[in-house]
Amino acid sequence: MSDVPARGPRGRRSRAGRTAIALLLGGAALTVSCETGGPPADRTRLPAPVGPPDVLLITLDTFRADRAGCMGHPGGLTPAIDRILRPGLLARRAFAPTPLTAPSHASLLTGLEPPTHGVRENGMFRLREDVPTLGTLFGDGGFRTAAFIAAFPLHSRYGFSRGFDTYDEELELPRERTSVNVYARRPARRVVDAVLDWLRGVPAGERWFAWAHFFDPHHPWEVTSSLDRILDHPPYNREIRGMDHEIGRLWRGVTEWGGGRPPITAVVSDHGEGLGDHREVTHGILLHEETMRGLLGLAAPAGTEAARRLGRGIRESVARYSDLLPTLLDLAGLSVSDDVEGLSWFDPSARGKGAYGETYYPTLHYGWSPLLSWRDERWTYVEGPDPELFDRDSDPGERTDVIEAHPEVAARLAAQVAALARDPAREEISPVDPEAREKLLALGYVTGTTSDPRRGKNPKELIDAVNFLLRGISLSGTGDHAGALPFLQRAYRMDPDNVSVLFYLADCLRELGDPTTARAYYRRSVERNPQMPEAWSHLAQMEFDRGDLDRAIELAEEGLSHSPEAAVLLLSAGDFRRARGDGAAAESFYRRAVEAEPMHFDTWAALARLLESRGNRAEADRCWARARDLAPGRAELPERFRTPDSSRPPARR
Ligand SMILES: [Zn+2]
Repeated sequence: MSDVPARGPRGRRSRAGRTAIALLLGGAALTVSCETGGPPADRTRLPAPVGPPDVLLITLDTFRADRAGCMGHPGGLTPAIDRILRPGLLARRAFAPTPLTAPSHASLLTGLEPPTHGVRENGMFRLREDVPTLGTLFGDGGFRTAAFIAAFPLHSRYGFSRGFDTYDEELELPRERTSVNVYARRPARRVVDAVLDWLRGVPAGERWFAWAHFFDPHHPWEVTSSLDRILDHPPYNREIRGMDHEIGRLWRGVTEWGGGRPPITAVVSDHGEGLGDHREVTHGILLHEETMRGLLGLAAPAGTEAARRLGRGIRESVARYSDLLPTLLDLAGLSVSDDVEGLSWFDPSARGKGAYGETYYPTLHYGWSPLLSWRDERWTYVEGPDPELFDRDSDPGERTDVIEAHPEVAARLAAQVAALARDPAREEISPVDPEAREKLLALGYVTGTTSDPRRGKNPKELIDAVNFLLRGISLSGTGDHAGALPFLQRAYRMDPDNVSVLFYLADCLRELGDPTTARAYYRRSVERNPQMPEAWSHLAQMEFDRGDLDRAIELAEEGLSHSPEAAVLLLSAGDFRRARGDGAAAESFYRRAVEAEPMHFDTWAALARLLESRGNRAEADRCWARARDLAPGRAELPERFRTPDSSRPPARR
């Protein structure tokens, strides 16, 4: 079967019709003269396309800019991306606003910096309600719009679907971990299939804007591409090579659909990956080059006005992620609102601007200071308990702090940071998780720190605690709790107040058969931060296990008083009520759980089992069907819900 969808019926719209649409859209610059360059010579099989080009945004999760061939990597990891961007303009100094998926994508989609769009971390914040997205703006401009996301942090519940005609978030839960949303993802092959499927249905003469998100380079690494040669590469590179292979297939599909002409295309990584540089293994804690420098390139089809304006080569000015929205709208002939913070690359005042950066991950998860940063064409300033300055001209890897030699530069960049930074704990944010703000405040309050970047614990000094913690979690995940324990203990010795460390240490000790010590660590974690639903749930379960049902119920309710929508606690509360024989109360808790976590296998399964036991077979079956769609391979499914091929993807929702 061909990878390539049947070509859309382009070119049927009359010249008069196209001009009328261009005028309606207010795109005065966008006229039929866009096509004067004519089709490339090799387009023999299909008629030349007419009308202004469509627009494709490709975002690459966790992609280090230095892995791209077009950014100098010699390993041939990205032949498709290189080919897409070769005729276009590549930003040498593109910097993500955060090392985190949701906030970075929010900047790409809104043209705003994180303090303005309000998304400061994954899974906790909703995009500010009044902010238009690329979906809204291209839609208003007459485009058919679609997005295809590959990971849970970009789920519609966080506001990212705003304005898109189609928001395809059909994610897969890994077979072995079906209870945590954050692991829901979709491999590149299936993202590409979904885009090409959608393209087949785009009607005659309609312009489209599509956003395809690729998550494969994000850990855990498990290459799903059919490409064999990638086996020579280490795992991270292998994921990139496999993803690139699929992007090549996407590119051939959209180009063939366009009668041989590709869309205007942006390729951008949301952030990089530490891979041990500055001792950071993944991303989110520090703000250095390896996680903050982005791949950001744009290309337009040859012969179009967009290609003429874009030109070809390297853009030396600092490119901010907030600049992408105005630049893409500009290239597509749509007008740009003054409300966006970014500037179109064609606006001369965009030159010489610096890039803001922030991470509140250390604060939200570990109670440490946040880090903030500013980058201009030469310098990187990182604001934190121990501010640093790097001269990237002589030190591109940001290894040597030169703040003492250049205090005036540091002061200038610090002033830029201060002008943009806003403490999320003091903001009227719109958290999806109503606890996010309280969590910030509670951590600051309990640990005696604030989210003032100069006053908390220094993430840079404590980065090894994260490494030990992650190593411990990873070993525990494979069942090696004895192997995990020393790593968790080392993390604990470095940062004994860290609620995440306390929690995982407790979990590990519980697995190792030491409930007394485990209970003490769980207790300490909820004392330091009462919004730890898993810790409450485990505390309650331990009471249940030793036969104290009353105490188990009390603990679950205490946890729910702090986190009323935590599915894990709603499930525990339901289980305990069921154990007591109170089916009606259990059902009410399970219903709340599925409402809170509709992508959670365990919530649907729990409700299904209970409904069955209460004689409501019809509704039970509907719940089992939902559970099966989320995790077809789970053994808990009744026989009648198992399919012969349990590897089939979840049904379309
Ligand atoms: Zn990401």
